Amino acid sequence: MEKELKDTGLYWQPLGGNNIDQISGHCYRYTAVSRNRGKKIFETIIVDLGKFDNHQALGVKNSSAAVPDIRRLLEAGKDIPKALFLTHSHPDHLNGIVHYLKNGYKLPPLYAGKYTFMILYDLLVEYHVPRSLWPKFNIITDGSKISFSALEIEVISSSHTCFDSFGLIIRSGKICVYHTGDMKIDQSLCFRKPTNLKRLKELSREIDYVVADFYGIYSDGFAPKEVDTYKRLVKIIKKNRKKRIFIPVYPTHPEMYLMAFMAALKCQKNVIFYGNTDFFTYLKMIVEYGLSFEGMAGKRIKVFYSHNKEDIAETEGNFAVIGTYNDIPPVFGATHKNSFGIITAATFFNPLKGQMNLHNIKFVTVGDFPELQGYGHGFLGDYEALNNLLDRRPVFIPTHCPVFMIDDVRELAAFIGLKLISPTPRNNQIYLLKKRTAKLVSSLPPKWLVVIYQSDGTAYFTEVFQKPTSGQGFLKRTISRRRCARRFKAYLVRRKHEKSPSS
Ligand SMILES: [Zn+2]
Repeated sequence: MEKELKDTGLYWQPLGGNNIDQISGHCYRYTAVSRNRGKKIFETIIVDLGKFDNHQALGVKNSSAAVPDIRRLLEAGKDIPKALFLTHSHPDHLNGIVHYLKNGYKLPPLYAGKYTFMILYDLLVEYHVPRSLWPKFNIITDGSKISFSALEIEVISSSHTCFDSFGLIIRSGKICVYHTGDMKIDQSLCFRKPTNLKRLKELSREIDYVVADFYGIYSDGFAPKEVDTYKRLVKIIKKNRKKRIFIPVYPTHPEMYLMAFMAALKCQKNVIFYGNTDFFTYLKMIVEYGLSFEGMAGKRIKVFYSHNKEDIAETEGNFAVIGTYNDIPPVFGATHKNSFGIITAATFFNPLKGQMNLHNIKFVTVGDFPELQGYGHGFLGDYEALNNLLDRRPVFIPTHCPVFMIDDVRELAAFIGLKLISPTPRNNQIYLLKKRTAKLVSSLPPKWLVVIYQSDGTAYFTEVFQKPTSGQGFLKRTISRRRCARRFKAYLVRRKHEKSPSS
């Protein structure tokens, strides 16, 4: 294990979540160093192993993906990590696993929720990873406790946009860390457990650090609640009084399938699921996970997974089409008189909007009602509330955001009493988490491993130093630094104004 880990204690290292500008490829490492009869003992766990989305911008020919570089940890001999915890099933937290396995690496046992493993299982099959190479799957749920001598982990449910999203309480010696995973505070989730605030309150005197998902920190107030999305859908359907409602939903957000379904049910509309392979794969997963649309529908509405003439006839023209689609086939008989569209994602359904315009079918978008888009990350208000809940006023270690955002939020954070780690962490640095302050002990430049697949299906890695990639490659859209800084300034002015007695 590294010579940088000189002292005993708990070390934290971001490997993908504290990138320069664009954010994905999440991966974090925790190592507890203890001493037994003069001998140093290392216990390491990894949290998440995602893929970096904008691999094209790294400039390696024929690249298929890029992943954080954890080779040093996997090759460390007897000190190899004890576990790889997966906070949830999104590709930027999970998909690195497949590429490491395809490159011949052996991974430690995995700990994740049932739904996360269902998604991973599909990926491993899709990539033809031989069973003999699969790591061991250990299912965890809210409240699970796992320990590896000097490291104790407790699983805590998190409000996010997929099933089985978790945070972790990580304890070593006297240090207690709350690693939030992707999270908002929202307590109104349907069909899954929200962020476990009760348990966090119980732990509020112990938590020294919050390794936090700061993705949404540049928006003020609280992240939209699921109940608000549901209520808005119902309101729109009721108000426009059309018999046919088209509700396209983003394929990887199953919670939106459910909310659209619940809204259709509330408004007594039969449901036709319609969409691409991706959509039906995720839909099948929801059913396999244990939710029954027919069960929820009872006798009130009919549910269809196909859309032939006979199905449509059975609906008597009263239906909601829920799915991932960019067209309206003639079989739906949609006209400007009988139809209305509710577009639940910002850009994904542009061709569909074109078709609706062409047929003069009215629709609303997330531009009209932002809460139509399900949202999984806490806003500034979520983190203020979390900070207020935790009596010890822990040190926040922001992740899941570009490093400039952490630099720019400092003044505002100080004003609202949110203690931030200093200096701003960057990928591949190592910090020793002491009782009151974190100490930077190592700072090597971080790398991405670009994955290249050969025609015979085998893969190899090419290492590339991490660099700014905004505005290049596939992921053009990113958060502008200037806009971000301006927002933080405006929030600070607002807060100061609210506090000043003369106002
Ligand atoms: Zn996520």
